[in-house]
Amino acid sequence: MAVESSPGPLDASRLEIKAVPNPKATPDADNPDLMSLKTSTDRMITASWNEERGWTNPQVVPYGPISLMPSASALQYATQCFEGMKVFRGYDGRLRLFRPLYNCERMLKSATRICLPAFDPQELLKLIHKLCELEAPKWLPKDKPGSALYLRPTLIGSDSSLGFKVPDEAQLYIFMVYWPAPKSVTINGGTAPQAGTRLLASRTSAVRAWPGGTGAAKVGGNYGTALMEHGIAKKQGYDQVLWLYGPDRQITEAGATNIFVIWKTSSGALQIATPPLDKDGLILAGNIRRSIIELARDMFSTVTVNKELQCEVLERKITMGEVEESSRSGRLMGVFVVGTAFWIQEVSEIGFNGESIKVNIGATTHVLLLRERMTEIMFGKRESDWVDIVQESG
Ligand SMILES: *Cc1c(COP(=O)(O)O)cnc(C)c1O
Repeated sequence: MAVESSPGPLDASRLEIKAVPNPKATPDADNPDLMSLKTSTDRMITASWNEERGWTNPQVVPYGPISLMPSASALQYATQCFEGMKVFRGYDGRLRLFRPLYNCERMLKSATRICLPAFDPQELLKLIHKLCELEAPKWLPKDKPGSALYLRPTLIGSDSSLGFKVPDEAQLYIFMVYWPAPKSVTINGGTAPQAGTRLLASRTSAVRAWPGGTGAAKVGGNYGTALMEHGIAKKQGYDQVLWLYGPDRQITEAGATNIFVIWKTSSGALQIATPPLDKDGLILAGNIRRSIIELARDMFSTVTVNKELQCEVLERKITMGEVEESSRSGRLMGVFVVGTAFWIQEVSEIGFNGESIKVNIGATTHVLLLRERMTEIMFGKRESDWVDIVQESG
C-alpha cells in the first residue's frame, strides 16, 4: 500500500557517474589485440536488483571485474541473457544506434524467459545512450567516420543461494568493445567480405533449439551448448555451423546469425526466403533479419523495380533437400547470413552429408545492394527513421 515500499523501477534519470581514475590509451586500428574482442572502453554502466528493493540507482563505473559469489545463480544455473548492438560514427560526425529499442525490448523478453527481473526497455535505452555519449568522443572520434563500437548489455542472476530457484538478486551491466570490421573485397562494383562464409550443417545428433526451448531468447545457455558443434566445424575448415532441425533437415540459423537464400522457382521467378519466426521458437528474431526483410520488400518486390532485381520476399520453412535440389538444377542464386556483429555476409559453401554445396557469390546483385543500403543508413548517408541519434554534449 505504501508507494515507497514497492520495488523501485530501473530509472536512468537517477544515473550516478563515477570518475575513471586511470583512463586507457585508445588502441591503434591495426593492433592485434582488437581481434581478440577484449578491448573495452573506459567505463560501463551497472545497476543491481533485488526482490524487495527493486533496482538500485544505475552507476557509471570504470570497466573492470565484477564481484560474484562462486555459488552465483548465473554461474551455476546459466541465469543470463544479453544483447548485441552497435553504435556508429556517421560521415556527418553524428552518432547513431540502429533500431535500438528493438534490442531493449528483446532483452526484456529474454530476461523474462530466464526468470530475471523486468525493467522498462526505454530506461535501458536511455542508459545505452548515456554510455555512448560518455565514451564515443574518445573511443569513436569524429575523425573516424565509418567506424563502430559494439555494445553488450548483460543481465545475470547474482543470487548466491545454491538452491534451484528463481534468483532474487540480479545485476545489469552495459559495456562496449572494439569489434573488427570484416575485411572486404570488391565484387561487381560493391564491397563484399573476403571469401564468403563456409557453413557446415549440424549433425542429426546436435540441436541448437527445439520447441519450447530457448532458441528465441538471447541467453548464454544457447551458446555454450553450441560450442561443441562449432568446434567440429572449425576443425574441418568451416566458419560456422548451419543449424538444422527435424527429420526434414530444416535450416534455422547459422552460428549466431539469421540466414537467407536467393533462388529461382521452377518457373524462373526469383525469391528471397528466410525461415519463419514460428511458435516453436527455434529462431532468434534478429533486428537485421527483420530490417533485411523490410528493405528487400521495399527495394525488390514492387512492380517499379528493374526486372532483373524483382523478386518475392518470403518467410517460409526451407529444407536442405530444397537447397540441394535448387543447387543441382542451377536455381540457387545465393545464400547470405545477417546479424549485428558481422552485417551481411555471403555464404560460399555449405557442407552437408559429406558433400559440398558450392554457392556462387555475386550471381545476383541483391546482397550488394542490401549491404550498401544498410551501410548508408547506419553511417548517415541516407535519411532513415531506423536510426536513433545519440546527442553528444560539447
Ligand atoms: C543475436 C543473434 C542473431 C542476430 O540478431 P541481430 O539482432 O540481427 O543482431 C541471430 N541469431 C542468434 C542465435 C543470435 O543470438
